Amino acid sequence: MEKREKIYEGKAKILYTTDNPDLLIQYFKDDATAFNAQKKGTIAEKGIMNNRIASKIFQHLTTRGIVTHFEKMLSDREMLVKKVEIVPIEVIIRNRAAGTMCRLLGVPEGLVLACPTLEFCYKNDSLGDPLINEYHIRALKLATDEEMKAITALAFSVNEALKQFFLTLNIELIDFKLEFGRYKGKIILADEISPDTCRLWEVGTGNKLDKDRFRRDLGNVEEAYQEVLRRVAG
Ligand code: 5GP
Repeated sequence: MEKREKIYEGKAKILYTTDNPDLLIQYFKDDATAFNAQKKGTIAEKGIMNNRIASKIFQHLTTRGIVTHFEKMLSDREMLVKKVEIVPIEVIIRNRAAGTMCRLLGVPEGLVLACPTLEFCYKNDSLGDPLINEYHIRALKLATDEEMKAITALAFSVNEALKQFFLTLNIELIDFKLEFGRYKGKIILADEISPDTCRLWEVGTGNKLDKDRFRRDLGNVEEAYQEVLRRVAG
């Protein structure tokens, strides 16, 4: 499958058309940003690691009955995906408090939540992806009520599947962000799932194996991604 035209370039990925109008190539870059792109850098070989990690995770979710945009890995940095219309909402699920939740609600990092939480953010870089609720989504027609039901159910299913998956690798899934797309009238899981989009703590040590190492200058960023890849790849 050959790349044709670049149709989108984001902070971490590029999308290209292919000869098949239903399929795109998702190319993973090494660029890393944090705090709404105020902090910029690169993580060596991140694109290669995230492509492999995300491919494995999508394959696993498929075995758990979750429909994703993933078709197959094409090369080190390229994944073939279904062409979806992205719903402009970021869905965040948390199992323990970290990041924004600690900042907004004054709870300590690592607080175990009595049940998983669900948040929606409006996917808009210039606004810094502000937090919204289902009334905003309905009022601005970002998604239909039926789509939001599907998105919510899928997000919690992904959480259950991924929590279990990572635990078998001795990693705890703290929180993560998902994006969904419309494909042939259905909502399917899109974008990527990787240490860029999840918080992953090693069981026992609590070592952070995710983008917080970059955000907070904790060092050993590449090593952390490599470690996640090593475990995910088996
Ligand atoms: P927080 O809201 O605490 O910043 O992030 C919660 C979780 O969602 C973290 O795992 C974080 O990596 C992920 N997340 C939230 N917003 C974004 C985003 O715009 N891009 C990426 N890559 N991940 C995000």
